[in-house]
Amino acid sequence: MHKAKAWSAASPTSGLAPTTIDRREPTETDVQIEILFCGICHSDLHQVRNEWKDVMPTAYPCIPGHEIVGRVTQVGSAVKKFKPGDLAAVGCMVDSDGTCASCKDGLEQFCPNLTLTYNFPDKHTGGVTYGGYSDSIVVDQRFVLRVPENLDLAGTAPLLCAGITTYSPMRHWNVTGGQKVGVVGLGGLGHMAVKIAHALGAHVVVFTTSPSKKDDALRLGADEIILSRNADEMKKHAGSFDFILDAVAAQHDINAYINMLRRDGHIVMVGAPDQPLPVSVFGLLMGRRSLSGSLIGGIAETQEMLDFCGQHNITADVEVIPIQKVNEAYERLVKSDVKYRFSIDMASLRSE
Ligand code: NAP
Ligand code: ZN
Repeated sequence: MHKAKAWSAASPTSGLAPTTIDRREPTETDVQIEILFCGICHSDLHQVRNEWKDVMPTAYPCIPGHEIVGRVTQVGSAVKKFKPGDLAAVGCMVDSDGTCASCKDGLEQFCPNLTLTYNFPDKHTGGVTYGGYSDSIVVDQRFVLRVPENLDLAGTAPLLCAGITTYSPMRHWNVTGGQKVGVVGLGGLGHMAVKIAHALGAHVVVFTTSPSKKDDALRLGADEIILSRNADEMKKHAGSFDFILDAVAAQHDINAYINMLRRDGHIVMVGAPDQPLPVSVFGLLMGRRSLSGSLIGGIAETQEMLDFCGQHNITADVEVIPIQKVNEAYERLVKSDVKYRFSIDMASLRSE
């Protein structure tokens, strides 16, 4: 074991504060990474505040962070993919059994023995996993990704969750050029969805509750932008979408969006509000529409997404903050007041 600096939450209401943790010595298949940037995902906030207590209760102390980029500092003897000095990235997962049907299909996120990057039982320490709000992490090579050299690192970190979570459903449901694609909620996930759908050639329509995001949406790649609280604007699009990605973190009316799908259209939830959302079944019956969910993406697909972003020069629009501002950032995230992802510069932690 060796010591690492980190910021942790002691309880749902304590906020985050500095701490010291143990990280394991790298095994023969492990990669040790000095963390340079870590994005702040709304899932971090949900879990720090135990908002998902019914499905995924939080173990405290909780050290969040699953949008990690850094530099390799040490590798185990069996590691061939990485060497010290390489750029590397880690997303939401750090282990899976590698033998189940989902793992064999490259869908590790659905493995029954999955280990998430934080707040999950850690077979190495006997405690729980600790995430990326830290100066270092040790991860099995299977779950370490290569980072395209041309991308800005602060903006690359959010690709590891916001990027793959929006890329994967668009690939699965075959979003292609010429389709009409809706993105609901222009937050961390939503703004990545706009960039990726635009790069795939879709006609992109953003639904937002924030009038202040209108100009940005067009700059990010949207073709149209609708203020979702304006009923007249909403009516214009009834029955017209091939695919809608809903990335809203709170209660909202999804029936309005179901009714915007054309026949056989798909709406996919990636947002994870803590309470159930009422669904009007008639909206699904009429037009044989489907409502689905999607969870991050597999490791091979995450690498494919990173390479795609490298080719298209896509990164997140980030506000880089020192770790000392993390509690303030959480307060702003609740108010949808970030354009469009906070990325923590871990140099601020090292100099603490
Ligand atoms: P975020 O940056 O806070 O973005 C959420 C956006 O939702 C906000 O920017 C806002 O967009 C909109 N919104 C917020 N409150 C709303 C309300 N009351 N009514 C309507 N719209 C509202 O969050 P994020 O990091 O993108 O995460 C979004 C959700 O996805 C979270 O629930 C997170 O846990 C979940 N998530 C899921 C996965 C997965 O694998 N499925 C992965 C990562 C995250 P506007 O200002 O444009 O309205
Ligand atoms: Zn996330």
